[in-house]
Amino acid sequence: MSTGTAHLADAGPITTIGFDGDDTLWDSESHFVLTTKRFADLLEPWLPSLDAVEEQLLEVEGRNLGLLGYGVKAFTLSMIETAIEVSDGAVPASHISEIISWAKELLDHPVDLLDGVVETVDRLATSHRLILVTKGDLFHQESKVARSGLAESFDGIEIVSEKDPETYRRVLDRHGVSPGEFLMVGNSVRSDVLPVLEIGGRAVHIPYHVTWALETVEPERHQGFDTLPSISDLVDYLTPSPT
Ligand SMILES: [Mg+2]
Repeated sequence: MSTGTAHLADAGPITTIGFDGDDTLWDSESHFVLTTKRFADLLEPWLPSLDAVEEQLLEVEGRNLGLLGYGVKAFTLSMIETAIEVSDGAVPASHISEIISWAKELLDHPVDLLDGVVETVDRLATSHRLILVTKGDLFHQESKVARSGLAESFDGIEIVSEKDPETYRRVLDRHGVSPGEFLMVGNSVRSDVLPVLEIGGRAVHIPYHVTWALETVEPERHQGFDTLPSISDLVDYLTPSPT
């Protein structure tokens, strides 16, 4: 893990900063972790191990990703599919109904901004163009952005279905930003860092305490970017130190 500004000074000034939403600006994954635990309790009669349920659910989610994409609704359909598979079709409708009620809870949960987010976004909005780049259910992400109270600080809000190099290229084109002046900030090396480096941008990784297994990448791919302990370190990181 690299810290400091090793990879910032490589090129010209940053004019535009992209922020990821889930687990970068606001808490998200911990709600999925909790729901998965409740789901494992529900499936206990058929599969009495949290690890085994997690593994099975992950397998189904991976299988469905190309068709369902990311977010609560995809997660819910994958839970229902897993419940049917694991119980060999015996899961009662009352259980399915419970799973659906968890989905509604997840969609309706208040947006909990992470420490330092408001101050950092407010401060950087005075010096940089800010773009929010978040992926998942369009409707849910729009509602989270609105409830976050941060929308006004951003020059652009991009809700995308996948974060690959083509997506970032398209977003930057739309805002008239060249990759060399762009810095992306996010908790996922796979989605927020590597595709941005690939198109010639820069990126900062700010890890969150939980990461969805399908967002993890091998440690050997953790190179070519800096890691900061907290979003509160971003302003100092972007301020060139006197030499
Ligand atoms: Mg994220």
